[in-house]
Amino acid sequence: MNDALMHTYNRLPVTLVRGTGARVWDSEGREYLDALAGIAVCGLGHAHPAVAEAVADQARTLVHVSNNYRIPHQEELGRRLVALAGHDRAFFCNSGAEANETALKIARRWGHQQGIDEPAVIVCERSFHGRTLATLSATGNRKIQAGFEPLVQGFVRVPYGDLEAVERVARNRTNVAAVLVEPVQGEGGVRLAPEGYIAGLREACDRYGWLLMCDEIQSGMGRTGRWFAQQHDAVTADVTTVAKALGNGVPIGACLARGAAAEVLVPGSHGTTFGGNPLACRAGIAVLDTMEQEDLVARAAELGRRMQARFRERLGDHPGVTEIRASGLMLGIELADDCATLVREALNAGFLINVTAGNVIRLLPPLVIGDDEADRIVDGISALVRTFYES
Ligand SMILES: *Cc1c(COP(=O)(O)O)cnc(C)c1O
Repeated sequence: MNDALMHTYNRLPVTLVRGTGARVWDSEGREYLDALAGIAVCGLGHAHPAVAEAVADQARTLVHVSNNYRIPHQEELGRRLVALAGHDRAFFCNSGAEANETALKIARRWGHQQGIDEPAVIVCERSFHGRTLATLSATGNRKIQAGFEPLVQGFVRVPYGDLEAVERVARNRTNVAAVLVEPVQGEGGVRLAPEGYIAGLREACDRYGWLLMCDEIQSGMGRTGRWFAQQHDAVTADVTTVAKALGNGVPIGACLARGAAAEVLVPGSHGTTFGGNPLACRAGIAVLDTMEQEDLVARAAELGRRMQARFRERLGDHPGVTEIRASGLMLGIELADDCATLVREALNAGFLINVTAGNVIRLLPPLVIGDDEADRIVDGISALVRTFYES
């Protein structure tokens, strides 16, 4: 514990000093298998040579220029990202929260353009959208909001997966401008949207003239076995936010938009000093190149099926296991009991994992992980769950 750092995290007593692929080593030389990837950030694993080379080359050439100038790497990354998402324009920033702030600003400004005085955004229970004031206000978790009141106004909350609740909002309010939703809730416990939910939201947005805004900060960039999780439902949102895996660890986020939503922000209405600088964009381009060359989106789908099937074999009939959920390499093992202590048990056994929502083991391994490594994770975590219920 270092007194020079604000106590915003209860850190585990281990210092990770280097990595390669899905393996990392601590300062004592101990090896771990990484089933978390820095919370869905290092999709290409650690120290990927393509990213390392791109970042080093760009650092020797030009790290940063102001957005007052053209930035060809930003233009290329924008072009390629919007093509993958079926959107039209990108705004680059440095984090997920900033990407969502951009989306929320688009929703409000777009609402005003429609003649709505106090535009509101529909958000879901158990959602997570970030830690800035607006994004924590959008987040459906009282713990994250507590102590930071007054919250930003203009959010209407509905249960996740409940289309009828959205219809009720439509009947009762005339000031809705947008819906902000995670196609798979990550922090909320790896909760998959029920079949047809995102498509139903798309229809509702079309019917009522709202923007559909998908927070794909965790679920995007191939994690679920599609470039963007909304694509499982054959949906294209009006606004999509990405971050986490976009730079494989180099901080970069993006707010993608299409149609009218892509024209809302104009010079003077939004901006950023660092967002989309040459260094971050080179990392993003190297990520896209590698994902395409190594076909990692299909790999995420295949490996996700493999891990899910193996978990079902190992734990499917265990009385302590409530549900096994997965979308590609976003996996959640829900237990009947709070199991935060399993994070430390896993660390001791040589695995980096996460527990979210108190009782859901969350696994987000790198997309480059090998079959054997994936099997070792499933077997290791399954054994830990069994021990957890034996002791
Ligand atoms: C991580 C995350 C965010 C916040 O991203 P930061 O980079 O931590 O600001 C927002 N939404 C979702 C779904 C996330 O998983």
